[in-house]
Amino acid sequence: MRIRDRLRAVYGAPLMRPHGDPIAELVLTVLSQSTNDRNRDVAYLRLRERLPSWEQVRDAPLVEVEEAIRPGGISKVKSVRIQAILRAISDGPQPASAGPRAASGSSACELSLDWLARAPIAQARAYLTALPGVGRKTAACVLLFSYGLRDVPVDTHVSRVGARLGLLRSGAPFEELHDQMLALTPPGQELELHVNLLRHGRRTCHARSPSCPECALARMCPSRTLF
Ligand code: SF4
Repeated sequence: MRIRDRLRAVYGAPLMRPHGDPIAELVLTVLSQSTNDRNRDVAYLRLRERLPSWEQVRDAPLVEVEEAIRPGGISKVKSVRIQAILRAISDGPQPASAGPRAASGSSACELSLDWLARAPIAQARAYLTALPGVGRKTAACVLLFSYGLRDVPVDTHVSRVGARLGLLRSGAPFEELHDQMLALTPPGQELELHVNLLRHGRRTCHARSPSCPECALARMCPSRTLF
């Protein structure tokens, strides 16, 4: 794949290892909405400091969660969403591959999504996208960043760069973009393609004024003459 090779020559191959914490990934994606990475991280660290376990976050008065994540912005909305996700994990149906619950009674139940690592990928994806407010991109982040499973998050940068390079259909719904991205990504290169397309979108192929004259992919890009 020439585009992957060219991106690797410019940005290298990312070395991030799976972190093994799918609930943290879900909470981080909620906190990252409408803010920058720094404010997201401040909010996340304050939440973990004040309420160290996910069970405490789930069961705390809403105002405590809201206050903890205030630096991340729109904390009223995000606190409701975080608790809704944690309660859905506790209360919702679990696939057979999840094994028995840790304890009976949902409010006492230990929160865990460790079973995702062993489940068939389609089942894991379907479970995650049934959680409140969780779409394909968030599910892909959870599967890829937590366990290195085969999925590729398509955010605005990846979809824009992919469409300009002719890899993805411009204007396609996100569900279709994720299917296309998966189909064109060689197994084992999910993280590399996601990260390097994202880097290219942030550094060179900007939304409004892409730097085509300086772009290392210009010779293979059908959109270069448009800018
Ligand atoms: S040539 Fe221009 S439009 Fe194509 S990938 Fe590079 S910066 Fe983006």
